[in-house]
Amino acid sequence: MGISRLLIANRGEIALRIHRAAHEMGIETVAVHSTADADAMHVRLADHAVCIGPPPATDSYLNQAAIISAAEISGADAIHPGYGFLSENAQFAEVVEAHDVVWVGPKPEHIRTMGDKVAAKKTAGELGLPLVPGSDGAVSEVEEARKIAAEIGYPVIIKAASGGGGRGMKVCDSPEKLETLMQQAGSEAKAAFGDATVYIEKYLGNPRHIEFQVFGDGRGGAIHLGERDCSLQRRHQKVFEEAPSPVITEEDRMRMGEVCAQAMRDMQYRGAGTIEFLWENGEFYFIEMNTRLQVEHPVTEAITGMDLVREQIRIADGRDLSVTQDEIEFQGHAIECRINAEDPWTFAPSPGKVTYYHAAGGMHVRVDSGLYAGYSIPPYYDSMIAKLIVFGRTRERCIMRLRRALEEMVVEGVKTSIPMHQELIREPDVLSGDYTIKWLEEWLAKRE
Ligand code: ADP
Repeated sequence: MGISRLLIANRGEIALRIHRAAHEMGIETVAVHSTADADAMHVRLADHAVCIGPPPATDSYLNQAAIISAAEISGADAIHPGYGFLSENAQFAEVVEAHDVVWVGPKPEHIRTMGDKVAAKKTAGELGLPLVPGSDGAVSEVEEARKIAAEIGYPVIIKAASGGGGRGMKVCDSPEKLETLMQQAGSEAKAAFGDATVYIEKYLGNPRHIEFQVFGDGRGGAIHLGERDCSLQRRHQKVFEEAPSPVITEEDRMRMGEVCAQAMRDMQYRGAGTIEFLWENGEFYFIEMNTRLQVEHPVTEAITGMDLVREQIRIADGRDLSVTQDEIEFQGHAIECRINAEDPWTFAPSPGKVTYYHAAGGMHVRVDSGLYAGYSIPPYYDSMIAKLIVFGRTRERCIMRLRRALEEMVVEGVKTSIPMHQELIREPDVLSGDYTIKWLEEWLAKRE
């Protein structure tokens, strides 16, 4: 055993993040990239680089054969998929393992189960996690849907079993609209995920999004690293995340965290995972589990002092968890702002050449980004170009530091969401932590 050369099957800030953890462990890195990313920072820093195809992700970052070939050519003995792209593709995980390459991720069968939201909900229920009331599995007949909706009460939300990234969801507030919305949800899901299966759940009026970070050793050992509050969302996409949540008590954290950790022990889960809940009136309702590293993982790193990518690599290498639950201490407060190359108010993408770049710095300020002056942000991929993560002893001090750090960040040549974050953290509701998953969109609508 012993991983010595890690292929990073991703791009952007997360590729760099993984490279950094690997190098700190004395592991060589192999970057794979599309022709559009030949000049990317992670490609420059990696020990080896292999071009895997043209710009469209389907031809490069999603091209399984090209990535496996790159691993063989470069002599990589492990693959880290990052988030997005192939990270939750059970078939790819199996192919990697079939090539005797270490998959830095959960067991393929767990990726498969949790990737199907209907199966995930069933499994979560069996493992004792509290669920959002809804259909007991997939729903295909309108009559059945009407019956379920009448039982749980309107409004309901129709969700795609294979959904992700906030897509394939329809809120329905009356029986008359059910048929049309079910058809729409089904055909959108078919187009986006190649699977028209939908299910129904109660639409919670005004919840928060609270998720727990878990880690399993694959042999029945598991821990939790507390929660993150990701309620500030636009179009079901997270914009600003914090840990701990301003509304979760120490008692709730340890109680729900333990429920999550126990579920992972029972599953013999391996690696990093996130169990997502909606939280309303003090109750948690499971919505899904992500079987990968999350974008917002650094806020957990900030308050626990643990390197989550290092932990993933260690576990993939067959080692034990580096800490026991008792050894984990939560300290202070951390916030992450996702900085996108887009208009701060219309959200229109703004790719192009970065003419000047200055990253924020100073105590407890972390910038995860592959940006540099002269870099051209390609138009083909996600618009997130940087994550600003700030830590403080208290939430108040964290926000003061975040304000200072946002002032220091300079990205010229393209538009970014920095001005939006600057206004956001002046809002009294954000300062007091009094927001739900609807807050951001309502605030944006009011500003128009
Ligand atoms: P995805 O995999 O597409 O991210 P999720 O199931 O995680 O889908 O849901 C994403 C977001 O959609 C949640 O954070 C929440 O804002 C909203 N949402 C999902 N289910 C419900 C529900 N039952 N009631 C209200 N909002 C919901």
